[in-house]
Amino acid sequence: MHETASGRAAEHHAAEHHALVCEDIHKSFGTLEVLKGVSLSAHKGDVIAMLGSSGSGKSTFLRCINLLETPNSGQVFVGGELIRMANDKRGEPQAADRRQVERLRTRLAMVFQSFNLWSHMTVLQNVIEAPVHVLKKPKREAIEQAEALLEKVGIRARKNDYPAHLSGGQQQRVAIARALAMDPDVMLFDEPTSALDPELVNEVLKVIKDLAEEGRTMIVVTHEMGFAREVSTQTVFLHEGRVEEAGPPQEVFEHPKSERFQQFLAGTL
Ligand code: ADP
Ligand code: MG
Repeated sequence: MHETASGRAAEHHAAEHHALVCEDIHKSFGTLEVLKGVSLSAHKGDVIAMLGSSGSGKSTFLRCINLLETPNSGQVFVGGELIRMANDKRGEPQAADRRQVERLRTRLAMVFQSFNLWSHMTVLQNVIEAPVHVLKKPKREAIEQAEALLEKVGIRARKNDYPAHLSGGQQQRVAIARALAMDPDVMLFDEPTSALDPELVNEVLKVIKDLAEEGRTMIVVTHEMGFAREVSTQTVFLHEGRVEEAGPPQEVFEHPKSERFQQFLAGTL
C-alpha cells in the first residue's frame, strides 16, 4: 500500500472498494494443472460462495489466496496491495517477501473443515493465542475481546474447556471466534460444515450468516446450496480449475447458463 508499485496497483483496482482481487491464478502440482486461470474479486462486505465438485480446485484456490500455496502465475491483491511472488532457484514458485506474507496473513483468516484448534489449549487460550503472540495485544485486552467473541458465537460458557470436550459444531464456532480475534479483512472458509453431523450444521451456518449481515467480507467454499443461495452476494462454480459459472445467486441458481453447473445442481455431475 505504501510502496509505489503496489500504490499503482491499488489505484488500478480501485482498492478502496476491493477487499480482495485474484487475477488469472494458475497452479500446478507437477504435471497436474489444478487451477487454470481463476479470477475473482470481492468488494468489502461481499460474501462469495464457492461451489464445485471434489477435486475441482476449491481448497487450492483458497490456499493460493493466503499463500499456503504459491500460484505459478496470476496476481493476488489484498486491500489493493499486490502480493509479490517469485520463483526460487529450482523454479518453484514461492512468496517473494516473507514479512509481507506474515503481515497479509494477519489480514486473511482461514477456517478449515477440520477446525484445527490447538488441542492442548482451552477454548479461551485458543482464541487469545494469536492476538497476544502475533498482534502483541496485552493479555487482559485479548481476554476481554475473546470473551466477547465467544459470547457472539454462543460458546462463552465453555471457555475453560478443552476442544476434545466440545461437539464439532462448538469447535467450529470456537475456530470462527479465533479467526475473528485477528479482525481480518477477509475470512476464508473451506467447507466449514462438511465435517459436522447434520444436526450441527445450522448452528455454524447461523454464525457465518450473522457475520455476513454485519458486512464481513468472506469467501465460503460450501456444499450448502441453501446457504449459498440465501447468504452469498456472488456464487461461483468452479469446475476442473476454471470458473464455469458466476453471478448473483438468484441469477445462477434460477438461470444457470453452464450445462456443468446444471448437472452439478441436479446432482448428476
Ligand atoms: P477441492 O478442494 O475442490 O476438492 P483441491 O484443491 O483440494 O480440490 O484439489 C484439486 C486437485 O489438486 C486434486 O486433484 C488434488 O489431488 C490436487 N492437489 C491438491 N493439493 C495438492 C498437493 N499439495 N500436491 C499434489 N496434488 C494436490
Ligand atoms: Mg477442498
